[in-house]
Amino acid sequence: MDHCTCGSGASWCARTDEIFGVDGVHVVDVSTGEDGSVVLDVETDQTLAGCSTCGVVAVGHGRRVHRLHDAPCLGRLVLVRWRKRVWRCAEESCPVSTWSETHPFAAPRAKLSTRAIEWAVDGLRHDDTTVSALARHLAVDWHTAWKAIKGAAERRVKRPGRTSGVKALGVDEHIWRPGMRGKNRAVMIMVDLTRDERGCLHARLLDAVQGRTGTAYADWLKEQGLEVTVSVEHAALDPFRGYANAIRDQLPDAVAVLDAFHVVKLGSTALDEVRRRVQQQTLHRRGHKNDPLYRIRRTLLTGVEHLTDRQRERLRRWLPIGDPNGEVELAWSVYQRLRSIYHATSPTTGRAITEKLLDTLHTCPVPELARLGRTLRAWRTQILAYFATGGVSNGGTEAINLVIEKTRRLAHGFRNFTNYRLRILLAADGTRPYRARPTHA
Ligand SMILES: [Zn+2]
Repeated sequence: MDHCTCGSGASWCARTDEIFGVDGVHVVDVSTGEDGSVVLDVETDQTLAGCSTCGVVAVGHGRRVHRLHDAPCLGRLVLVRWRKRVWRCAEESCPVSTWSETHPFAAPRAKLSTRAIEWAVDGLRHDDTTVSALARHLAVDWHTAWKAIKGAAERRVKRPGRTSGVKALGVDEHIWRPGMRGKNRAVMIMVDLTRDERGCLHARLLDAVQGRTGTAYADWLKEQGLEVTVSVEHAALDPFRGYANAIRDQLPDAVAVLDAFHVVKLGSTALDEVRRRVQQQTLHRRGHKNDPLYRIRRTLLTGVEHLTDRQRERLRRWLPIGDPNGEVELAWSVYQRLRSIYHATSPTTGRAITEKLLDTLHTCPVPELARLGRTLRAWRTQILAYFATGGVSNGGTEAINLVIEKTRRLAHGFRNFTNYRLRILLAADGTRPYRARPTHA
């Protein structure tokens, strides 16, 4: 072999090796491929090998070229031709004949180098990118890229201790395949809502399971074993009895907390119901765009502190006309009061507002509000737990949902649940920056 012209006297070039950056692998030649890619011929510095079966020192048996796609560098595609040493066992009675050398740089027969796979996985975790974009930068087809990424993602998910130390656990669901029928179109997600020492929340997706039942949640909790059972102190949930039962049975020491977002949602649903009923009773038909209540249907749902002067004027003008008995106005004030629980200046104030609502609302003459009152009373413990837990809420879950939604859009939807699960687990693994909502703590 020629000596490098860099003057080092070595047969390998220290400068080129520095750029390549893999310990024990040396660049022996650099050229430009037809498509403008960088083509690197490399070899390892392994000069001695023993037979794995008999231990006898092996003898060289020539070289075999392993072609690989590496991570892009300096704006160019990178192809590597690894001139692998082939070894042969010198012991005649040994059943082993020949084998190729190995190095962590790339797995045997892999099409992508280890770091190319890591580079792609990292892209899916931190950037809003797609498998096809990554495949293009690696100069491989989609299936080759995904197969490699999938293997790495599966290993990450199976890593032991991934669910250890979870103190606050959230659960939520969404539809992952809108076009699909049946119960499997729903996905239940489990989210780590544990805050760090400074009180910051980096919500992390722990898992995704098809279906939406208390049993599925209980099964998942059981599968996680004792580690999760003892570490979870707070479990946030939406008002679904199945989840509450699963928490009661599988996390007996955890405090169940009804999530703020869903409590407020109960209020907005009741307000909508009252508005539609009053609309029907006063005009004997569904709302039209010029009907007083229909005009203000969105303004009613806006938080009172966000209302502009114009919106306030709209409410003052249309509410008395569309709502002669003041039922919508009452529902509106209940909804605003529910919102104010979570915007209160102190937990004490929030708790006081909540207790007043819990004690009185079920006696309200407006049927929809009385029903809301009964629902809230049924969840009394879980609603009040919010104030005892320093404001545990599913807010982090909502943030995770946004990441999931973005992933789904970037991929133009998913048809394979296994792939969907792995992709969202990568994208929402808690390493993206996420601004925590201010809490009462
Ligand atoms: Zn041998």
